[in-house]
Amino acid sequence: MTFNRRKFLGAAALAPVALAAPALIRFGGAAIAQTASPVTPAFIRRKVGEIEVFALMDGFGVFPTAMLSGFDPAKAEASANAAHKPFEGQQMTIGINAYLVKTGDRIIAVDAGAPSAMGPTVAQWAASLAAAGFSPDQVDTVFLTHLHADHVGGLADATGAATLPKAQLVTAEAEWAFTHDAAVYAALPAEFQPMIDTSRAMVKPYDAVKTLIQPGDEIAPGLTTVAMPGHTPGHLGLRIDSGKESLLIWGDLLHSTAFQFANPEWSIAFDADQAMAAASRKAALDMVSADGMMVAGMHLDFPGFGYVEKAAQGYAFTAAPYDYRT
Ligand SMILES: [Zn+2]
Repeated sequence: MTFNRRKFLGAAALAPVALAAPALIRFGGAAIAQTASPVTPAFIRRKVGEIEVFALMDGFGVFPTAMLSGFDPAKAEASANAAHKPFEGQQMTIGINAYLVKTGDRIIAVDAGAPSAMGPTVAQWAASLAAAGFSPDQVDTVFLTHLHADHVGGLADATGAATLPKAQLVTAEAEWAFTHDAAVYAALPAEFQPMIDTSRAMVKPYDAVKTLIQPGDEIAPGLTTVAMPGHTPGHLGLRIDSGKESLLIWGDLLHSTAFQFANPEWSIAFDADQAMAAASRKAALDMVSADGMMVAGMHLDFPGFGYVEKAAQGYAFTAAPYDYRT
């Protein structure tokens, strides 16, 4: 078992901070804090060499800034201003994206959005998939960066049946073990347990068709997984290489476009191991800023494609121009 109890309990010690936040309490059970506006399905397509990548909008959530360790209001406001993001005081708006990769005869979903129980501003993943021109039975693989509820929410219907009837599930062996570990579950504050209940229910119909992998494994030609532990023990990025072009889909490497590029040392309460998450974040930001590699992320502002550069304060994110190539 790769789960480190001491490190996990360290993260659990932060729970009182998180539990002070009403949004988190409701995250697993019913609903995250909401604004009035509903969200509509959307997709954006682009090419990475010969490979097609679609960003699929799931929606967004509003979370308390108290969930960020190290959060400093003055620094945060300056960071938001530098990133041209509205500063919302004690709350932050966080996008929820998923992706889909079409390469050769393969159609690979990369995460699957949030469950509808999280509220009216999420759970548009299936509609965005349809808007992009795909039917669920065309998807042959669903690759999961990790198994948090906001990444697996579209995988099962109300009866518990698979919504992707022909898809195999691919995720890290360590991630599957962490999510299904009885001791991990028992050590969670009661308010976190519904999140894990949801995760387990959403992946259950794929139990017999799952492939558990190791970091660095290739899941299709040109699609290589990348170890990014900390957010969860088995958290993986997905690197796509075709011709001279590359894209790193980094899952939940960071959550706040407004704050965490400028302050990559700030971790979020959802990070199981805060220090390890910050180390993975720093290493990846160093790498993609040095290489000029395009990135995408599940909590970057939709569609999430962009570039990272070193800045006077930490790093800065620039959204990628629209890709008109067919
Ligand atoms: Zn997430």
